[in-house]
Amino acid sequence: MMPLLHIDDLWVAYNGRGPNQPVQNMLHGISLSIQRGERVAIIGESGAGKSLLTMAIINLLQEGAFIRQGKIEFEDQVLNQLTPEALRLIRGRRIGMVFQDPMTNLNPLLTIEQQLVQCIRSHRRISYQDARTIALHKLRLVHIPAPESRLLQYPHQLSAGQRQRVTIAMALSLEPALIIADEPTSALDVTMQAEIMHLLNHLCQSNGVALLFVSHDLGLVAQHTDRSLIMYAGRIVEDGPTASLINDAQHPYTQGLIKALPQHSRPGSRLYQIPGQMPLPQQVGPGCAFAPRCPYTTERCLQQIPAPQGPGGHQASCHLLASDAAGDSHMGHTGGSL
Ligand code: SF4
Repeated sequence: MMPLLHIDDLWVAYNGRGPNQPVQNMLHGISLSIQRGERVAIIGESGAGKSLLTMAIINLLQEGAFIRQGKIEFEDQVLNQLTPEALRLIRGRRIGMVFQDPMTNLNPLLTIEQQLVQCIRSHRRISYQDARTIALHKLRLVHIPAPESRLLQYPHQLSAGQRQRVTIAMALSLEPALIIADEPTSALDVTMQAEIMHLLNHLCQSNGVALLFVSHDLGLVAQHTDRSLIMYAGRIVEDGPTASLINDAQHPYTQGLIKALPQHSRPGSRLYQIPGQMPLPQQVGPGCAFAPRCPYTTERCLQQIPAPQGPGGHQASCHLLASDAAGDSHMGHTGGSL
């Protein structure tokens, strides 16, 4: 079955700041696929490249950033070869976005009705009244209280949780096949986080919409996704079914993230923290990006980029997992670099 979204060997870079400054690679050979209706998480610390990846998918990279190599295919179209207008039509209609800050999607000067209707009518030739009916229906779907009166309000008159519900309604207001939710609950309190995650999950599942959920919180995604990808310094270091990844993490970085979950610390003791800090993607040495923080680093790790290893559907990039971990037959592997 053709995946809904297929990313193959994606490299994203920034132009150097001065004439003699080299181009800096921020995403290093990202490959991933999402099936229709699948719920996939991308997990990583701040600066790992998660948001850059989502911006590359919808072609909203900041000035100076560009796709250096690779292909992003979505519903049989190569997104990074489309014209800006063709991409605009896909964005919104087939790919919905929910950001951490709802105000990224909302215009503070327009009422909720105006923006929902505008969004719907920018992609569909229907009357204002029909678009308003759809908008009202979507507000009901996201459990906004008193939706008729909310339509008349401005974003600042709603609570943070209600604003995020409106952006979910907006993302669903057309007929998306994929919703990209980038840290959608980070600005909310814990109770509201759970409600919004449950809502997103429920709506995607009941409408057959795939969900790409970006988060720094492994604990949060555990209950809400089918598959998880762990990002570190612009690379994917582990990819597997979420349950398998949580119960049988293969990469030392993922193992560290799981050890750091609050449920794994004893009452009264301090939470575990992976020692050291993640390097910037462009400052990684020639070998494994995690080597400076890894408890198992060997000389080989410092020299060679580990290739993904592992059986059917659960892979991690670590030399420890190579079937010949004790030998040196991977000495020539570099994993490719630009
Ligand atoms: Fe650690 Fe080496 Fe595996 Fe990297 S390749 S995670 S440094 S053991």
